[in-house]
Amino acid sequence: MKKTSLVMATLAAFALSGCGIHAPGAMALQRAAVVATAKADPARFFANSAIERQAPEAFALQPEAHDSLQEIESSVKPARDALITAVRKDKVLAAQVAGFDKLSWDAQVPVIKQVVALEAKVMGFQAPPLVIQEGPNQIPSFFEFDVAVGGTGKVILYPASIAQEADKFAALMLAVHEVRHSGQFQLSQARNGGALGRGFKAAFKAQHDLKGKLSFCDFCSLLNEYEAFQAGNYVVGTLTNWQADQRDMGCLSSQYDAKGQAKIDLWKLSAQVGPAKLLEAFNDAEKPQFGGR
Ligand SMILES: [Zn+2]
Repeated sequence: MKKTSLVMATLAAFALSGCGIHAPGAMALQRAAVVATAKADPARFFANSAIERQAPEAFALQPEAHDSLQEIESSVKPARDALITAVRKDKVLAAQVAGFDKLSWDAQVPVIKQVVALEAKVMGFQAPPLVIQEGPNQIPSFFEFDVAVGGTGKVILYPASIAQEADKFAALMLAVHEVRHSGQFQLSQARNGGALGRGFKAAFKAQHDLKGKLSFCDFCSLLNEYEAFQAGNYVVGTLTNWQADQRDMGCLSSQYDAKGQAKIDLWKLSAQVGPAKLLEAFNDAEKPQFGGR
């Protein structure tokens, strides 16, 4: 059987209007068809200004998100490094993370639970419930939340779908990603959440309101997806000496080289070209991912 890839998971997630929104009935979507459509049509792959201008605070590529990008640089990035330091302080856990790909699912689960508990503690938010859902599903992981209810939301992992992933670090990268969504969701509700709290709030809303209209790059440029993909890729990448395969995990702006440098550094790119030309410059830098597998 052909292994599913995470770009398929990502594309399926955006087709389902994002990993943050339940869309009953939409699970029947054929992921292969979704992928083929996006890869065959540049409009379904690259970022679209006309779409993103409908919710400019929600997208990392828009000038209105400039303050949010700055807060990711100044506060979220150091918190990711603090998480890495905290995992490394626990020598047993650090070794289990480094060899995560060789563990059975039953042995992976307690490692995932320890890492995401540290993630919430070190990055400063309340840990969401983590549910392991047996049975078939088309996506490997999900963040479930309700804006009307608030709180932490809930992270769901689907082991049957995770078992189909080609990369055996995927479960850990996705768990860190989904738990970040809980932290973002909590910040979006905070009175003193700052520009980033407002940006995340706009992103969760846009994910719902622009359902079905987002291209692949629009989806992974939503502030919440951009930052969650960065967190999963950077934290697990660093802790595994860059063995974890991030190539299908979000846009190049959320992926890193073996030195831990972002493949597209949006903050630096914005400083170079100016916030008003960021989307155009980003699309140009995304061409290798469109041309790739
Ligand atoms: Zn996500």
